[in-house]
Amino acid sequence: MNEYLLTPGPVPTTRDVSLAEARELIGHRGAVFSEFFLNLEEKLSKLLRSEGRTVIFPSSGTGALESLAANFTGPDTKVISVSCGVFGDRFREITAQTGARMINIDVEPGSGVRPETVSRAVFEHPGADVLLLTQNETSTGVLNPIDEIIAALPKGERPLVLVDGVSSVGAAPCYPEEWGIDGLATASQKGLLTPPGLGLVWLSERAWDVAAGRKCCSYYFDLVRQRKYIFKDRPENPYTPPVSLYFALDAALNSVLADGWFEGRRRAADALTAGAEALGFKHFVSDKKFRSPGVTALTAPGGDIQAVIKSLREMGLETAGGQGSLKGKLMRIAHYHDVRWPEISLILGSLFAASAPLRNERENFIASAFAVWEGERHER
Ligand SMILES: *Cc1c(COP(=O)(O)O)cnc(C)c1O
Repeated sequence: MNEYLLTPGPVPTTRDVSLAEARELIGHRGAVFSEFFLNLEEKLSKLLRSEGRTVIFPSSGTGALESLAANFTGPDTKVISVSCGVFGDRFREITAQTGARMINIDVEPGSGVRPETVSRAVFEHPGADVLLLTQNETSTGVLNPIDEIIAALPKGERPLVLVDGVSSVGAAPCYPEEWGIDGLATASQKGLLTPPGLGLVWLSERAWDVAAGRKCCSYYFDLVRQRKYIFKDRPENPYTPPVSLYFALDAALNSVLADGWFEGRRRAADALTAGAEALGFKHFVSDKKFRSPGVTALTAPGGDIQAVIKSLREMGLETAGGQGSLKGKLMRIAHYHDVRWPEISLILGSLFAASAPLRNERENFIASAFAVWEGERHER
């Protein structure tokens, strides 16, 4: 069955990406691979506006987060964790598992993290080694202003800033070097428009120095061991890399690096929101400043959002529901891929049909057409 994937990972991939993934394999110890890998790293550098190389793990985003935790936290570290949802909580949990002493700051789901909240926490807990932030909280559709948050930190010795960029990189600007991020984790299957399976980690110079002076509690996710191979003039990987996914990522980055890409995500988010609000849905993030360009969370005041999700699924559109305490309360529609007007009108048309019961309409033109379509499909 064909699904139109509107989930916040995985996202629809293009033909170019599929074709690249299907390319004949090359050996990962040869010169051809090194050259390809350098070129891929160059694209990632362009995206992050940094010269530094990115470590790529065969893992999902959680593996990349775990790598940050394993390399920078442990029983000897004091960590301030700021969370505004399920994924902030998960980064906290991963880090706590290393035995780190945690100071937890919670922001209400649906709200963004304000710079003053973080600067106060850092001020009140001097000597913290690490600060955990989430750029895009996928469970609520919040994009946090990481650049403003870091700029507002108290002057002087500051903690290493580790950022979960799993659902933001590729969809929104994320310039770790310019902004002062020390460790950034992301993954292939959201803003990077690639099939699932790659976890990416970027580190600042300061973070590389800190990592070199610590003992990592993981062998596979040891960043310093990765660096020995990846930072060579003819780079390779310490272990067998999923080369086909690298090919796919390389092709997908061409879309993300195109002029106007970030503006396009924002425009799609705004247009979808305008249409959904006109249909009676409510954006879960009331402060527009914090709305994600990659995923939009909607509620159906007075109505059953689960029924809308189910109805969309029957029409072939796969959206996501709420997570954690928001289970059953939200619908999340992702728009990381190249959503243009035809896709927006398709999504809104389906939403119009799916939400007819919310408006006490027994039917509407799209629902009627769909009934005929379904009837004919069954007769055939
Ligand atoms: C999806 C997501 C994760 C988890 O990534 P996996 O690839 O599923 O392991 C972590 N953080 C954020 C913000 C996410 O959106």
